[in-house]
Amino acid sequence: MRATTATPRGLAVGLAASDAVSAAWPGRGADVATDAHGALVTLLTDGARPVLVGPDALLPRPRAALRALVRAAAPYDVVVTLPPRTDPRVGRAAAALGVRCIAPDEPPPQATPRRERVAATAEGTDEAGVGEAAFVDGCFRRLDRPDALCRFVLRAFARETGADRLSLMLADPARTSLFVKAAKGLDPALVGRVRAPIGSGIAGRATSLARAVTGRASSGGPRGYAGTAYVVLPLGVAPRCEGVVSLTDLPGDALPSPAALRRLLRMARRAGRALAAARRLEQAETLSATDELTGLPNRRAFERALRRELERARRGGPPIAVAIVDVDRFKSLNDRFGHPVGDRVLAQVARRLVGALRETDLVCRWGGEEFAVLLTGLAGLAPGEALAALERARLAVGGRPLALGPGLPSPIVTVSGGVALYGRDATEGSALVERADQALYAAKQAGRDRVLAAATA
Ligand code: GH3
Ligand code: MG
Ligand code: MG
Repeated sequence: MRATTATPRGLAVGLAASDAVSAAWPGRGADVATDAHGALVTLLTDGARPVLVGPDALLPRPRAALRALVRAAAPYDVVVTLPPRTDPRVGRAAAALGVRCIAPDEPPPQATPRRERVAATAEGTDEAGVGEAAFVDGCFRRLDRPDALCRFVLRAFARETGADRLSLMLADPARTSLFVKAAKGLDPALVGRVRAPIGSGIAGRATSLARAVTGRASSGGPRGYAGTAYVVLPLGVAPRCEGVVSLTDLPGDALPSPAALRRLLRMARRAGRALAAARRLEQAETLSATDELTGLPNRRAFERALRRELERARRGGPPIAVAIVDVDRFKSLNDRFGHPVGDRVLAQVARRLVGALRETDLVCRWGGEEFAVLLTGLAGLAPGEALAALERARLAVGGRPLALGPGLPSPIVTVSGGVALYGRDATEGSALVERADQALYAAKQAGRDRVLAAATA
């Protein structure tokens, strides 16, 4: 498990964490997050835009920046990776603060949350306690599963307060309204449906102001709530509050003490940081799985989906098939009309393929002028059904001229394809793709503008 990462040039600030950690970066209104999955590394966001942490991240005041990072990362240790030629002030700041520095190729130290130290400060005080450290740890273990993260946060608040009715609402991407992501003691059908405008109403105000709101429900409120104590906590800090946790049906119908409320607020802010990091992780993953030109999932996404579907098929799930589709004589199209027109052709072909296949079939850009299709939920192992689907797709592309836009040519573009069936032609993912590719080659040899099954190719 790697928690510390180095950018190709310059410095990466790594947080030695059990799974992943996000820490506030005061002064830049940004978060730092590392994840343990290798794909995403240290993220520093400026507003909503994720950027890799470079050597400038700690500058111009490395000591203040590092001190803030250390504080925010607690209970985790911060480790700084120092490549050659890093500004010497960074190393000096690290030394002054007792922050460990390692070379970029050095393995990161084992994650050790500083629980003992935290526990010591918690004794007899209301400062961050062991429970909070476990809460942060629990949040960051679920960064890659936002729904599980929301449920975990809700459970933690239920345990902490003893409240019987709770909900967790998140702001939508446009930040115009809140919707329920998790609820306890409320109608489960509310989840995903109820929306409240940000800026008005208790939850909406708590989100826009990033302030805790406590009180007693007015008699005009929903039945059963009149006079009931409630607490609404912002998940994060202004101006980027992710949403709110609302609690009611508190033990003895008592509002929390100021000290208890401070502790709840701290928990809510930490949950907010984790939720923000989870959202960015999701965005980055979507981006890294999408082909820019066609908007289709890319090869990486296809391979991931294929692995998942193969697992299901092996456990006795419905048969699946893989097809590779290649545009015929695409090079001469590029030569005739130019590369930009070629690009438009690819985007149009992609749209027609998607339109012709079922929603459950996954169409991806395999690379260049080739597409891969994952057909799921087939009725049986005969190639007929998959072939028929691909025939439909072939005709949808080549059956009428493409409409590339005003002033542009309307060429007729055909495709060829090869199909391989799981269980009949191969059982491993790479072998399935290979068999489909062989069938595609045979289709090209036979004159193009046709689809062949591996079994008959
Ligand atoms: P065949 O029918 O045998 O498949 O012939 P072809 O010309 O389609 O195949 P070939 O492999 O010779 O050429 C594929 C061309 O696709 C070459 C490459 O320049 C072009 N190409 C690959 N990716 C892109 C892209 O993103 N945009 C454009 N415009 N062209 C691309
Ligand atoms: Mg090709
Ligand atoms: Mg081609």
